[in-house]
Amino acid sequence: MWRRATPLSPLISSFKSSFCIQQTEHRIFERFTTGLPLQEKDGISPKYGAPFITFVLGGPGCGKGTQCAKIVETFGFKHLSAGDLLRREIESDSDYGSMILNSIKEGRIVPSEVTVKLIQREMESSDNKKFLIDGFPRCEENRRAFENIIGAEPDLVLFFDCPEDEMVKRVLNRNEGRIDDNIDTVKKRLKVFQALSLPVINYYAKKGKLHTINAIGSVDEIFEQVHPLFAVCKRAGRRETT
Ligand code: UDP
Ligand code: MG
Repeated sequence: MWRRATPLSPLISSFKSSFCIQQTEHRIFERFTTGLPLQEKDGISPKYGAPFITFVLGGPGCGKGTQCAKIVETFGFKHLSAGDLLRREIESDSDYGSMILNSIKEGRIVPSEVTVKLIQREMESSDNKKFLIDGFPRCEENRRAFENIIGAEPDLVLFFDCPEDEMVKRVLNRNEGRIDDNIDTVKKRLKVFQALSLPVINYYAKKGKLHTINAIGSVDEIFEQVHPLFAVCKRAGRRETT
């Protein structure tokens, strides 16, 4: 069982060098071939083994969701979009529905406790231990809440780096019927991204976990940058089964 700080219910720098990839590969191989780390210090019971956690970060419309779909298809990760989990919560009969809706309309960050609990519920109920957590953490407080409640840190952090004017263009053209895909809310989301999300990205850069992806180009061109970061999971997975 994951370590829980509170009851679960009710739900209330670019680092592109080959050195960095080698370091990441080393960590991934450790995870997949030795099953390490399984220590309680990670807040995870050995019974469940250690998950492999990837955070996928970047501003609105940078292509996080699109690339996550490619990673899932190619490497078999479980995709958890924090925004989608929150939108699903609005549609369910949750006590938090109207608060979440208002936050999303204004481009504000939903309280960490709510988002982390939604992520935790999905992680606990998944048989797949390789997680892509998309659009989270969005601020330092989100990051600390994840570490405290889940009791784990990400193994890999991707940052899709995209100019603002391109992000605005993509969001306004995507036609997914989202209440926050309008120019006023997008401007607010970009401000929140600059002020609160960039510090999280810088934090992981300093820790040597960040991989910056140039988010301009076709889906396949961008995936060419992403693929090598995960290719080792596939190799390690094969090794595990032989
Ligand atoms: N949101 C949040 N916390 C999260 C993820 C999303 O509060 O961890 C809210 C926030 O209001 C954000 C909105 O959900 O502006 C949409 O997020 P999503 O990740 O779906 O948007 P994207 O960046 O993919 O356009
Ligand atoms: Mg998204």
